[in-house]
Amino acid sequence: MCGIVGYIGTKKASPILINGLLRLEYRGYDSAGIATIEKNDISVMKDKGRVKNLYNLKGIDDLTGTIGIAHTRWATHGKPSKENSHPHIDNSKTFSVVHNGIIENYHELRKFLGDNGYTFYSQTDTEVIPNLIHYYYSKDNNNDELKFLRAVRNACKELKGSFAIEVICKDYPDNMIVVRKDSPLVIGKGENENYISSDIPAILSFTRSFYLLNDLEFVILSRNDAKFYDIDLKPIKKDTKTIEWNASSAEKDGYDDYMLKEIHEQPTAIRETIGSKLSENGKCDFEDLDFTKEYLKSLNKIYIVACGTAMHAGLAGKNAIEKLCKIPTEVDIASEFRYRDPIIDEKTLCIFISQSGETADTIAALKLSKEKGAKTLAISNVIGSSITREADFSIYTHAGPEIAVASTKAYTSQVILITLLAIYFSQVLEINNEEINNLKIEILELPKKIEEALKTSEIVKEFSKRVYQEKDIFFLGRGIDETVAKEGSLKLKEISYIHSESYAAGELKHGPIALIENGITVVGIMTDPKLVEKTISNIQEVVTRGAKTLIITNQNIDINGFDMVIRIPNTSPFISPILSIIPLQLFSYYISKEKGLDVDKPRNLAKSVTVE
Ligand code: GLU
Repeated sequence: MCGIVGYIGTKKASPILINGLLRLEYRGYDSAGIATIEKNDISVMKDKGRVKNLYNLKGIDDLTGTIGIAHTRWATHGKPSKENSHPHIDNSKTFSVVHNGIIENYHELRKFLGDNGYTFYSQTDTEVIPNLIHYYYSKDNNNDELKFLRAVRNACKELKGSFAIEVICKDYPDNMIVVRKDSPLVIGKGENENYISSDIPAILSFTRSFYLLNDLEFVILSRNDAKFYDIDLKPIKKDTKTIEWNASSAEKDGYDDYMLKEIHEQPTAIRETIGSKLSENGKCDFEDLDFTKEYLKSLNKIYIVACGTAMHAGLAGKNAIEKLCKIPTEVDIASEFRYRDPIIDEKTLCIFISQSGETADTIAALKLSKEKGAKTLAISNVIGSSITREADFSIYTHAGPEIAVASTKAYTSQVILITLLAIYFSQVLEINNEEINNLKIEILELPKKIEEALKTSEIVKEFSKRVYQEKDIFFLGRGIDETVAKEGSLKLKEISYIHSESYAAGELKHGPIALIENGITVVGIMTDPKLVEKTISNIQEVVTRGAKTLIITNQNIDINGFDMVIRIPNTSPFISPILSIIPLQLFSYYISKEKGLDVDKPRNLAKSVTVE
């Protein structure tokens, strides 16, 4: 995972490249670099550290080339260092490459190239790519205009793993070649110029016209052209797609951090995700889905597969689908799913959730499910992302670009979308009851209730100031509240680096209670009226042992003996995670701020995890 940018046009490339990298830095930020073609030679400037360090590199302002590639790295092979930073070049300095992904067979390729006289200067898997391209290039005696492309194609045929790459060649100073397989890359078309990027927002201020690439489609870019080829080098016709997003929606809008802005965007994100899917008269409509009653009745199981926060949204989905539609539903972690030989056949529906649509583990799980004959449905926030191109059906959250690494608005949008999906299934199955009718009313009122929940900000901030120096914080809940405990705990870990655990409240006494000691902080979530009394008893058990307690509830009950009680609006238990997570998102945010950490770019993490 990393950010890739490219430019080919009439302007000086280096400022455009660095600017693009700054916008992509959320994807990886341990080192950065650019390469441009300067008077028929390739010039590479790179270093360990943040993108802004590039401005300090000697000679960076003297670059005048109008074609260049750039990279911000999230190291997978070799520690962050200048040598391991991208771009990489081949031994003869003819080619330069930036790469996002992992070359799984790089050991074999390094050995092969080593036997053929090539030397390696980094520990990366990536460095085999420019050298392999050179290997094929030097063997090709046909000096026609496709020689560069043939060399790249032949090298890519040897690569196992995932890659999005940009290649420049000093013998072809007016061209750049790009290709992707299982890693993201888009091309933005301008007037006499083309932009390349790992995602759309980074170059949205330059163009709204995009080419979306499928796996192993090769592109020769020049200033005013983009020629597409398949793996057999047969030309492909491709049209641009217009992207409607507003570039300013990717900016911070006056908030200190993207995360805070994104937390506050949740009323809009939820409103837009509900969109026209649920009308006032209670009809639920998904334009792109045409599931029949017979098909849904034939299902023996639904799997919801995802990673991290998206997996927690899946747990809310399981609750809704099982309770409303009575279809057995299991939630799986994508990285485990593939290797546990899941029982899948044509009577299984597999749902995959990925904000970016580029999560490598989730895509791999989807491919496996398809092979085994299941129908696949993708839930993503990014139109045209890899997962949506692989799946039989795709539905979208409309959260807008999410820049902060810790997901907030994408999570709540996923919960609402999958709940709407459960309602749609119940409609197709002709199941109708009061619970569903009540849920529909509550969904339409949800954006307003989120605005109410956001008003807890000040009191959450106050409690955060009291506990930000803690070493361990526990989160407890029952039923649907346990899924929120999991997500609240993950959020805290991600951005505050405080060790945290979440437990089903009733499980506490079966072991973890041994960790509860005087002064420890415990967060209890209790929103489901059927379970509140039981959860209160469990929390009392930790109060007795001296814990400080923060309670999130929507219940109008008298709760005494806790240090802080935060009340959020009442709603249907199916969508209560969307309200109860809000104070917990704010809790993590304020603790992280109190500790003086980089909220948007927590250490060791990246936004879109495009490696397995
Ligand atoms: N595997 C490559 C490296 O470690 C690329 C990592 C990335 O996607 O940033 O250099």
